[in-house]
Amino acid sequence: MADDRLPLPERVLVVAAHPDDIEFGAAGTVARWIAAGAEVRYLLVTRGDKGSDDPATDPAALAVLREAEQRRAAVELGVASVDFLDEPDGQVEPSLRLRERVTRAIRAVRPEIVMTHDPTVLFVNNEWVNHPDHRAVGSVVVDAVFPTARDPLNFPEHIAAGLSTWKVAELFLWSTNEANQIVDIGATLDRKIAALAQHVSQFRDFESTAGWVRQRAEELGEQVGYRAAEGFRRVSLAR
Ligand SMILES: [Zn+2]
Repeated sequence: MADDRLPLPERVLVVAAHPDDIEFGAAGTVARWIAAGAEVRYLLVTRGDKGSDDPATDPAALAVLREAEQRRAAVELGVASVDFLDEPDGQVEPSLRLRERVTRAIRAVRPEIVMTHDPTVLFVNNEWVNHPDHRAVGSVVVDAVFPTARDPLNFPEHIAAGLSTWKVAELFLWSTNEANQIVDIGATLDRKIAALAQHVSQFRDFESTAGWVRQRAEELGEQVGYRAAEGFRRVSLAR
């Protein structure tokens, strides 16, 4: 395994806006952590019910399909659980109500590492606009991690219900313009692609998407001498 100073957590919580976001952003790293014995859980804020360019699509049926695809993608990697908050796709707002729901998940899972979207990114690499749901979810997750989950007077009903406060040690943020952690996924790139392939509803030509994802991972890896890589903005909170 490469010398990429990757921590080896016991528990990781991954929070994403839509089914397939985790596979694009973080699945190679998730697969590495699971191989090393970590328990990884997914929390999906929406079920991706707007993810179609066909106006005849029934959003409720699409949501059912995409939830099933996300669950299959998680099984592919050995993820311990997948939960859905079922917020409406395309309308996620960084609300206090959503922060409460994410805080509850953090206090229940007690992860050393939380992975999510980098909320500060409006234009990813000046190549595309970051989806507003991605920004909203990233923002809510960061706020839930610090200080909300940590401090007992925030949502004290959680404590009354038997949960405890929780201090997350590190954030790993994907789709970032400021990657300071390049993770070697040379050994898990195939697993990442296999997980991505489960999102059948999202691809007309999966081979071309897979080729593009592979190429991106290989180009990033090349910069630091790995066969393939994922990049994250890694923020330490452990002090
Ligand atoms: Zn998305």
